[in-house]
Amino acid sequence: MGKVYLTGAGPGDIELLTVKALRVVQEADVIIYDRLANPEILKEAKDGCEFVYVGKEDSHHILPQEEINEVIYQNACKHTTVVRLKGGDPFVFGRGGEEGIYLQERGVSFEFIPGITSAIAVPEYAGIPVTHRGVTVSFRVVTGHESSGKDHSQIPWENYKTDDTIIFLMGLHRLERITKKLMEIGKPASHPIAVISRGTRIDQQTVVGTLADIHEKAKELPTPALIVVGEVVKLRQQLSWFEGQNA
Ligand code: SAH
Repeated sequence: MGKVYLTGAGPGDIELLTVKALRVVQEADVIIYDRLANPEILKEAKDGCEFVYVGKEDSHHILPQEEINEVIYQNACKHTTVVRLKGGDPFVFGRGGEEGIYLQERGVSFEFIPGITSAIAVPEYAGIPVTHRGVTVSFRVVTGHESSGKDHSQIPWENYKTDDTIIFLMGLHRLERITKKLMEIGKPASHPIAVISRGTRIDQQTVVGTLADIHEKAKELPTPALIVVGEVVKLRQQLSWFEGQNA
């Protein structure tokens, strides 16, 4: 029985991979990866390493989690070093916990390797600090994705009346609904918001607007994209550094 490394691949820029993640990628007998992990990382693998892709471009058709768990387990039965490479950090909407539990229940040993999460790094590459002295003392990372077919929102909107910076992952397709909800709980229509697409990659794009107009401005942006809400968005005027620099 092999060992499984549940590994964060970082947000996209290959240089944001940790030294530890790079080491296990280089040692791996098999790498099980999905759509958000930069495929360039696979070039670091040794000769003969196998690659198993478990996500399709369209996020609605990824393998069911149960099947991914089983793929990881089956590979652990065959190989010594199994790397499960996941975008960002395995524990930030990455289902890393579920994969760990599946392995634990089957007696497979595993390690988690944290990754730099897109929730913080992507705003950073757009010049938006998630906290800033005198502006906000906390931030929240929230899923913007709610399973369709449910009548009621699973997001506790009433909790978001504070000045926390709010970072929505998986929310681009629900941007209009998200902004509507934020205005319903009392945030002004002029409240700052940004959408950052393909963050930390050379084709990163950021669109800044207000709760009232961001939907129209950002609807054409390609995924993956995340949403940042809060006064910190204004700091981008001074702190933007990455976009344009690679042109
Ligand atoms: N575990 C990951 C998040 C998985 S949820 C992490 O820690 O980063 C997937 C969501 O993350 C996407 O829908 C998108 O909202 C966000 N995301 C991931 N990579 C991104 C990137 N490079 N640019 C913008 N958003 C990204």
